[in-house]
Amino acid sequence: MSDPTFAEFVSHAPGYWPAESMDRWDDYPWQLKNRINTLGELESHLRLTDIERAGVLLAGSKLAMSITPHFFNLIDPEDPDCPIRRQVIPRLEEGWAAPEEMADPCGEDSHMPVPGLVHRYPDRVLFLVTDRCASYCRYCTRSRVVSGVGEQHLETQWEAAFRYLENTPQVRDVLLSGGDPLLFSDSRLEKILTRLRSIPHIEFVRIGSRIPIFLPQRITPALCEMLRKFHPLFISIHTNHPKELTTEVRDALGRLADAGIPLGNQSVLLRGVNDSVEVQRALLHKLLRCRVKPYYLYQCDLIHGSSHLRTHVSEGLEIMDRLRGHTTGYAVPQFVVDGPGGGGKIPLNPEYVLEHRDRKTLLRNYEGRTFEYPEPSMIPPEVAQSLLEKTTCCP
Ligand SMILES: *Cc1c(COP(=O)(O)O)cnc(C)c1O
Ligand code: SF4
Repeated sequence: MSDPTFAEFVSHAPGYWPAESMDRWDDYPWQLKNRINTLGELESHLRLTDIERAGVLLAGSKLAMSITPHFFNLIDPEDPDCPIRRQVIPRLEEGWAAPEEMADPCGEDSHMPVPGLVHRYPDRVLFLVTDRCASYCRYCTRSRVVSGVGEQHLETQWEAAFRYLENTPQVRDVLLSGGDPLLFSDSRLEKILTRLRSIPHIEFVRIGSRIPIFLPQRITPALCEMLRKFHPLFISIHTNHPKELTTEVRDALGRLADAGIPLGNQSVLLRGVNDSVEVQRALLHKLLRCRVKPYYLYQCDLIHGSSHLRTHVSEGLEIMDRLRGHTTGYAVPQFVVDGPGGGGKIPLNPEYVLEHRDRKTLLRNYEGRTFEYPEPSMIPPEVAQSLLEKTTCCP
């Protein structure tokens, strides 16, 4: 690996920003206020390619651009193919919707019993609590509503959603997402969690958030103290590249873990970002060092204008094949594709079963060696009989 930041935790403050920013760097409202939202702000820090400049101009009416100073600093200004850059700086290709692409690739809008609440699986719901994030990912599966500049808007019906949950006892698991729920104030989050916890059949609450990566300064001790009152509470973070795991991010994740919150990671497999086994391995190992269990690796959804970021399914399978068995089992995520149009998550695995035979299954291991696993044998009746006789004749 040529880039040492793959393996090591390094800080990136203040980078492109004037040294006096250092005083405010750890202040998350400062980070939010100083986000890069316009072409002018972006060009004052970075020389763009023509492809990117066109992308920024096109993005305004689809998915807004916004990048926190913290995350922006991870961009390598010398590298037009920087994997951080590809995730947050729009590109010209976003302006073209390929024929297979959709506004709502996971079919969420048709599974909402109440606006903002997606109930697809029998026992759990996805609760979309906001359309805002600290920064915007160009491949966002919810870009039809996220950032608020597109034609469609998220209109979460809070009271109706809580009533639906109260009246639907089969829901035992609520996943708060959006947008990014950790953008809410501590007191607003506390009200939402208190209301959810007052519903007896809700056993399990989790939050999906990219804030620990985009804005680690938001993970304050006060936030962690508040969250720990609502256990069992899990958090799924979203990170795609080992460079994203800086010292600030590692420390923020440590504060969440110290508050007793089990942490998982969801990544999206993205062309030119993390579509190699070397990058994946570095990311997964670094996540374990941050006390985060890699949870899902997603095939990129068929979102409008995403073809330049999508990979072939076979590439993901190849990466999985080169991870499982070759490294710590805890480090290996489940590769999934959301069935286009509303099929939900479908697990994808390399083929380990070569053949089902009459009395045995033919398998291969991670090295490609084959093994036979036989079906269980039945005890022969005459053996059973003689054992029975032996044990019943005794006094
Ligand atoms: C991903 C998702 C969930 C959670 O799925 P898990 O496999 O339990 O993590 C729930 N509802 C919807 C609509 C989802 O897309
Ligand atoms: S943080 Fe999540 S919801 Fe927000 S833009 Fe990125 S992928 Fe979309």
